[in-house]
Amino acid sequence: MSADVSPGALPRCALHPDALAGATCQRCGSFLCTTCTTWVMGRMYCPTCAVRPEVDYLETFRLGLWGRRDAGAWLVGGVTVLLVGLALLALVSGDLGAGLACLASAGVGVAFFLGLRWARLGLLAVPLLAMLLTAPSLGPPALLFFIPLIVAVNIFRDTRNRLFFRLDVPERELHLLWDRRINNPLARHALSLGVFALFMPVFAQMLFILGVLPVLTFGFVGVAVLAVVLGAVALRRVDPQAQPPIGRRWEALGGLCLGLASLALWGLLYGPHALELLSGQVD
Ligand SMILES: [Zn+2]
Ligand SMILES: [Zn+2]
Repeated sequence: MSADVSPGALPRCALHPDALAGATCQRCGSFLCTTCTTWVMGRMYCPTCAVRPEVDYLETFRLGLWGRRDAGAWLVGGVTVLLVGLALLALVSGDLGAGLACLASAGVGVAFFLGLRWARLGLLAVPLLAMLLTAPSLGPPALLFFIPLIVAVNIFRDTRNRLFFRLDVPERELHLLWDRRINNPLARHALSLGVFALFMPVFAQMLFILGVLPVLTFGFVGVAVLAVVLGAVALRRVDPQAQPPIGRRWEALGGLCLGLASLALWGLLYGPHALELLSGQVD
């Protein structure tokens, strides 16, 4: 980063020797003039480093999901198949209105699955229209269409789904999605397992009363051990200086500590009994 510059000799841009350098690239350290300075996520880079996948990791992440179907698209696809089935049933039984309504909804579903943008609004319109149109005949049960409406609103707002439709998303939202999916997910798993493991001895007490404890104990203790192992591995991975940074130190630590606490609780509650089992009968 720093170079020994004799007094009077000012650093010059690595690419434009005529221009004075005002900054250095945060990856390779080369001097940059104003023209060359490229900002990526609040850091300065030279043009070459700025396009590297690990530097502009959010852009790499975005391109990986761009136009790719997400869980929401597959859910809509599955419901569309069901709607076609319902439409056929309705048409066969002579209910033309319901049959055509189901077919129209299925059409929106197909368009959504294919990534046609108008179908995003269509997805919201279908349950809303279904509710309004069936309310006179069905009465209060028509309110059940609120459930698909809420699902549709969630899919509509989902960052991942917007990437499937090739819509631009703000960097902040992209970062949140990246954080959820890519940033040391092992640490999150360790924490959930740790929380789960901590309740296990208490839960086992109930099963113990039911007489099924000995069979399941090893599995339950295994959850605690897994939380400890995953927590330790995730903790070792944490590296805020890496490019992209690897975080979630506290979640990894949490998983590790909760797993250890669970093991201690197991020992306290069942240690004597386990010794008894090992030395005597195994049932
Ligand atoms: Zn550079
Ligand atoms: Zn330059």
